[in-house]
Amino acid sequence: MITSRERRQLDPVKRILVTGGAGFLGSHLCDRLLEQGHEVVCADNLFTGTKRNIAHLLGHPRFEFLRHDVTFPLYLEVDEIWNLACPASPIHYQHDPVQTTKTSVHGAINMLGLAKRLRARIFQASTSEVYGDPKVHPQPESYWGHVNPVGPRSCYDEGKRCAETLFFDYHRQHGLEIKVARIFNTYGPRMHPNDGRVVSNFIVQALRGEPLTIYGEGLQTRSFCYADDLIEGFLRLMASPPDVTGPMNLGNPGEFTIRELADLVIELTGSSSTLDFRPLPADDPVQRQPDIGYARRVLGWEPRVPLREGLMRTIAYFDALLSGRPAAA
Ligand code: NAD
Ligand code: UDP
Repeated sequence: MITSRERRQLDPVKRILVTGGAGFLGSHLCDRLLEQGHEVVCADNLFTGTKRNIAHLLGHPRFEFLRHDVTFPLYLEVDEIWNLACPASPIHYQHDPVQTTKTSVHGAINMLGLAKRLRARIFQASTSEVYGDPKVHPQPESYWGHVNPVGPRSCYDEGKRCAETLFFDYHRQHGLEIKVARIFNTYGPRMHPNDGRVVSNFIVQALRGEPLTIYGEGLQTRSFCYADDLIEGFLRLMASPPDVTGPMNLGNPGEFTIRELADLVIELTGSSSTLDFRPLPADDPVQRQPDIGYARRVLGWEPRVPLREGLMRTIAYFDALLSGRPAAA
């Protein structure tokens, strides 16, 4: 019997599992993999994802949706696994923190076990949160981070750190081909309008003419990457030679304060919204910017879409969604 790895080498059309495929990033990834001619199995428990994100794919002959929770084992035959299942927004991952850790850790163990049986290459959607509230700026992959292990963000941060540990132990112990991406704040069409992340919050608030909620003084920074750029980075990392395991930062180095983001969203929507300053959540990182030198060097990748342009596309999506028109995404 030929192994999954051997089949992959022979057949350019792969059968691919995407966990979290009905989410924001997962649904864009499913689109791109189908465009490349692959068969895609999307496994998602729809906790933060929605069938709306994959509605256009449900009748596709090479697409299959499975309602499945990755904290339980999954038995499938696939050539490649992308593990994206995990709530990403602070309000969602803090809603049931024990489930968040289980999703990261048990989910990783289940997907790594599947990859081990199939000898399949496996990708992990890790996060800039592994750096916590960083003391090194910008953050290179060699930085070990500054993470509170017992705070409200720990279920996510430590869950993702443990998942990285598991990926590297399966790689060392079982020779699995792994690809670990550390994703920095990414935005775009198909973000959930109520998921509480800053870009979706500000756009929805501006379009509704409500005050934009700024936590703290809005002087904390983030670096925002447009979804299409990130997915291109994902694909290049997955296609890279086996010795390129990561962890690899993927994000846009353009750094903005939250206050600057609010001003830009107000300008681009033409909204008359005001600013509403609220208390800063616990352990909110002060400064965040990826050092993407490794991705540039090894993948020849860097983001192309400037914040202003990406915001305009995202605003158009939310505008259509909120007014009940079909939203181009
Ligand atoms: P999202 O919430 O839109 O997508 C996550 C998906 O996972 C959803 O469809 C959700 O229903 C599903 N899910 C959650 N728990 C599950 C479980 N137990 N079993 C099966 N499915 C489950 O978020 P996103 O922004 O698309 O994030 C995708 C991945 O990328 C996540 O792993 C996240 O941690 C990571 N990430 C995203 C960002 C970002 O800025 N978007 C940044 C860093 C890391
Ligand atoms: N934020 C804000 N107003 C909001 C939502 C978020 O000021 O309505 C801030 C938040 O405190 C953080 C930044 O924006 O400093 C990014 O928040 P997000 O939840 O998008 O991502 P993360 O904190 O995980 O980077």
